[in-house]
Amino acid sequence: MAETNYDLIIIGGGPAGLTAGMYASRARLNTLLVEKVVTGGQILITDWIENYPGFPEGISGPDLSDKMLEQARQFDLKFEYGEVESMALEGEVKSITVGDKVLTAKTVIIASGASPRSLNVGEEKFHGKGVSYCATCDAPFYRDKVVVAVGGGDTAVQESIYLTKFAKKVYLVHRRDELRAAKILQERALANEKIEMIWDSVVTGMDGLFGVENVGVKNIKTGEETTIAADGCFIWVGILPNTGFLGGALEMDAWNFIKTDAHMATNIPGVFAAGDVRSTPLRQIATAVGDSAIAATSAEHYLEGL
Ligand code: NAP
Repeated sequence: MAETNYDLIIIGGGPAGLTAGMYASRARLNTLLVEKVVTGGQILITDWIENYPGFPEGISGPDLSDKMLEQARQFDLKFEYGEVESMALEGEVKSITVGDKVLTAKTVIIASGASPRSLNVGEEKFHGKGVSYCATCDAPFYRDKVVVAVGGGDTAVQESIYLTKFAKKVYLVHRRDELRAAKILQERALANEKIEMIWDSVVTGMDGLFGVENVGVKNIKTGEETTIAADGCFIWVGILPNTGFLGGALEMDAWNFIKTDAHMATNIPGVFAAGDVRSTPLRQIATAVGDSAIAATSAEHYLEGL
């Protein structure tokens, strides 16, 4: 068998990467996790998590991230910090260039995640303080409150409908006068008494002392600017997979998320994907860790077969 630095290299240190690292190193695979900046991924900007099993009182994103890192480290997982610049994934030896290092392994798990597209109107100041990208995660915090939602695609419309189970009022701001979402979702949203459509409009900013209190909205046809008093702002203007560094090496869906089978295997033997970067119907911490347990076990089986 060809010599490599590692049995497995994992790209990405969010919940998916850390879980894959924990499973693989516990299974005694010589495993390296490559992380661009800091481990934790999107949960680092998640204020409070109430839907991850095992924490009935809830847990902050940074605390959960610390615990995942601590658990992964118990089994001798190795870490390399730096940006992946290129990779050669075909063949038995996979090589990954990080800065001036070329690292090799027999298997690779891509767990590089995805990022919600931002509005670039200063919303990052309110991350975890009223700005959210996930109704499944945060809608229950808005019981009987007023929220603004942004976007016109399936996500914005479906999630706005979900928000109405909690919020007393949802203003859905969309930049055009018709929705992109599927007709059935449109019909449901337009018939929902708690949803008020704000057509032809964009969010221009938000303010508040400790969290979101006001959301600025501008009608792009008339130029009229208004302020909506709201407790939160949910932004659903698309989600971007962190797959640019792959340079088209793997098979992707129409939105550039990596296609896998039920074993998390990609189209290249020995290369697996897990978590938000994968083409999947739900992107949650619970689904990311589930994917990763499967991916790490699949990598182990693949190595046994070499
Ligand atoms: P999407 O379909 O790309 O829609 C993004 C929406 O955000 C569009 O309405 C777009 O407006 C708007 N937008 C984009 N940039 C904006 C900006 N800078 N400012 C304001 N608005 C902006 O994204 P998605 O809704 O997240 O859906 C992604 C994929 O997942 C889609 O294929 C969708 O069908 C699928 N999905 C399916 C379901 C389901 O089947 N139930 C649920 C969720 C998602 P324009 O329309 O003007 O371009």
